[in-house]
Amino acid sequence: MKHARALHAVSPFRSLLRRPVTDSPEQRPPTVEGVRLRGSLQLRHVDVGSCNGCEVEITSALGPNYDAGQFGARLVASPRHADGLLVTGIVTHNMAGPLRQTLAALPAPSVIVACGDCAVNGGIFKNAQGISSMLDEVVTPDVLIPGCPPHPTQIVQALRSLTGR
Ligand code: SF4
Repeated sequence: MKHARALHAVSPFRSLLRRPVTDSPEQRPPTVEGVRLRGSLQLRHVDVGSCNGCEVEITSALGPNYDAGQFGARLVASPRHADGLLVTGIVTHNMAGPLRQTLAALPAPSVIVACGDCAVNGGIFKNAQGISSMLDEVVTPDVLIPGCPPHPTQIVQALRSLTGR
């Protein structure tokens, strides 16, 4: 009991001694030119033909460990509520139409984030059956996140380059 009281007594000072959780401006990733989001980024995620590996990493990036939300980025359920699209996979025949419909529903101006090698350059499915086109033949991405799959820290860095936080 005595020990517990002693811990309680020092805990308010611990938080004063910790390093701040935010980075200094010099430590932040450079912001993407021409994007003015004022610290908040709402993204609609569209999987146009991924293997689901990128989705696992996106989930981690937005989860409590990597916490992209603390830098202002989050996913939303509708393109009409979004500042942009987070696209994974190479465009399959089945998803070419829904991708175009989602792009048409986005308010302008919007940002397009290509996440993973499949979205960036076709990746391992480039010559596979059922592929309609490369993503950049449908829309030009503003931000590319290479990797198969990219690490959550890469995803968070890319999102921070858009939010500027
Ligand atoms: S980049 Fe790799 S992990 Fe991501 S969807 Fe393509 S094959 Fe899967």
